[in-house]
Amino acid sequence: MPAALTAVTRLPCYIAPAEDEALASWFTQMSAQLGQSPLMLGRLAFGVDGAADPEWWRRPSDTTLCRISDRTGLGLAQLQAMTFLGWATAHHDESAARFTGSRWRAQRVTRRRGRPVAICRQCVAGDERPYVRRLWMLGWAAACPEHRTVLTGQCPRCWCPIQLYGLNASWPVDLLACQRCGARLAGPKAQPAHAAVLDVQDVMVRAKRMGAATLPIIGETQWAALIAAADTLQAMVWTATAGHRERLFKRIGSDLALGALDHTALSLNTNYGGLLMVGWLLTDLPNRMPIAAAALKTAAAIHAVTIEPSNVELETKALLGKGRRPDKDRVRRTVRET
Ligand SMILES: [Zn+2]
Ligand SMILES: [Zn+2]
Repeated sequence: MPAALTAVTRLPCYIAPAEDEALASWFTQMSAQLGQSPLMLGRLAFGVDGAADPEWWRRPSDTTLCRISDRTGLGLAQLQAMTFLGWATAHHDESAARFTGSRWRAQRVTRRRGRPVAICRQCVAGDERPYVRRLWMLGWAAACPEHRTVLTGQCPRCWCPIQLYGLNASWPVDLLACQRCGARLAGPKAQPAHAAVLDVQDVMVRAKRMGAATLPIIGETQWAALIAAADTLQAMVWTATAGHRERLFKRIGSDLALGALDHTALSLNTNYGGLLMVGWLLTDLPNRMPIAAAALKTAAAIHAVTIEPSNVELETKALLGKGRRPDKDRVRRTVRET
């Protein structure tokens, strides 16, 4: 065991965190500089086990933060700014590819080969030290607020999905190289992002950080209710028939004045298309949820409870303020009898 990793002293390397850098990114680069894997650096230097939780960096314990601070010289506030400590969470909102249709139509994405992620290749190209942004690790981010472009989830050379190793990796890793072909992930300017996506993403990031957001017409909305409303729409969309889905997409395309690329994005399996729908919905939630239900010829309550029995429908009803909260058991009976 290297002496530098056993003594309670500073580690023999220092990396200053970059703006909005994810702790996973900083930690992985520290371990690579030390010639260690993220797994072993965590175990030996900080007493945290990436095998038990490959994403411990999201909400590390106070003890872990203090150990990292002691051994790296970084302040606790600097470290905490790379995590999601203090940010709200609800309905597994930090899962990868959170607003894609696969959540509702197929098996969920596993982390067996890493976490799928979409990045801004232009940001990476401009970095003095390329790093992974915390924004990209949210699970549903789809646009770069700096370049106002769509995040991309494909390698520029082999076009396979970009996947990030977790902190359980047992060898030194480079998060910004393609796992399959090794290509660097930096690249030129991407497709411009629609203003509706940039706006709703900004609202959602602030809501997740603060626990609530102020939505048009309905006012202050808790993070859990906001995610519930988004989930209800997604569930309705991806369990409807293709014909009914296209009818809603035409309505969204008209209301948001979408160009051809953005209209196509609605039907693609990406967070960007998901955020376009959610942005359309949250601009006028009380009126647009019924419009969506009518276009899709579906019932939000039945689908939400059938697919994701996690109070999604109950919270959405409360959010919309339409009468009393429904009896959950009665809703389940209705689902079974349907
Ligand atoms: Zn960017
Ligand atoms: Zn590749």
